[in-house]
Amino acid sequence: MTDVQSQTKKGFKYVIEHMEEDDENTKALPEWVKLEYSHMLNLVGPSSSVHFTSLSSTSIPPLNSYLSGTSIKTVSSTTGNNNIHLESNSQKGFPTTQSILQLIESNGIDKKKVCLLDPRAEKIIEPKDEKEFDLFLYGGILGDDPPRDRTGELRKLGFPSRHLGEKQMTTDTAVGVTKIVIEDQIPLDKIPYTDFPTITFNKYESIEMPFRYVVDDKGEPILPAGMKEHLKADLNRSIDDF
Ligand code: SAM
Repeated sequence: MTDVQSQTKKGFKYVIEHMEEDDENTKALPEWVKLEYSHMLNLVGPSSSVHFTSLSSTSIPPLNSYLSGTSIKTVSSTTGNNNIHLESNSQKGFPTTQSILQLIESNGIDKKKVCLLDPRAEKIIEPKDEKEFDLFLYGGILGDDPPRDRTGELRKLGFPSRHLGEKQMTTDTAVGVTKIVIEDQIPLDKIPYTDFPTITFNKYESIEMPFRYVVDDKGEPILPAGMKEHLKADLNRSIDDF
C-alpha cells in the first residue's frame, strides 16, 4: 500500500477509560500506566488517535511534565527510551478529564459506533467490524490474576462489544491487536501470540506475566518501551520490602 493510500485509510478513535488511582507518592499516573499509554501511541494506525479519558486534573499532564497542567496538548512518544516529547504536529494522544460519555456527547459520536473491548463479550472481533465502528473503548485497568471483571463497570454503559479471545491482554496489547484486526484486516487467530510469558532479568530473577501478548519476529512478547526495566525495579523494591 502506498504512503498516500495508508495516510487516507480510515482513522479510528481508541479510547482508554482511565480506572486506576494515581500513585500515592507521586500523586500522578503510576509508572506502568505511563509506559502502557505511551506504547499505544505507537501501535495505532497513521490516521488514528488515542484518547485517555477520566484522568483526574492532578494526573494531567498524564505522560510527562512537559505538558501544561491545564491545556490539553498532543503528545507523542519516541520509541526506544520512551521519553515523551511535546510535539505540536503529532495528532496521536489526547488526555482529558472528560469521561467516555462526555467525550462521545461533545463529539457527536453515535453510541452504536462505539465498541467496548470486553473479555466477556459474546462476539469475537473480526476484520468486517471495521465498517461497524469508529471508536474502540478499553478499561484503563492493570490486569488482575485471576481477572476481577472490572471491565464490567463499562459494560453497564450498554455499548456494543467484542472480545479478543479467551486470554486476558494488557490494555496496550488489546489496543494493538484491535488495530491489527481492524486497520490491517488480519483475523484474530492469524496473529502470533505468547501466553503468560516469563520475563527473565538474570540467572536468579524472572517474573511470569499473567497475560497474552503479541510476539515480535524473534518470538519475544512485545512490551512497552521501558516496561522490562520497570518490572525489574519493581521486583527489587518488593524484595527489599521483605
Ligand atoms: N482484569 C480486567 C477485567 O477482568 O475486566 C481486565 C483488565 S485488561 C488488563 C484491560 C482492558 O483491556 C479491559 O478492560 C478490556 O477493555 C481490554 N481487554 C483485555 N483483554 C481482553 C480480551 N481478551 N477481550 C476483550 N478485551 C480485552
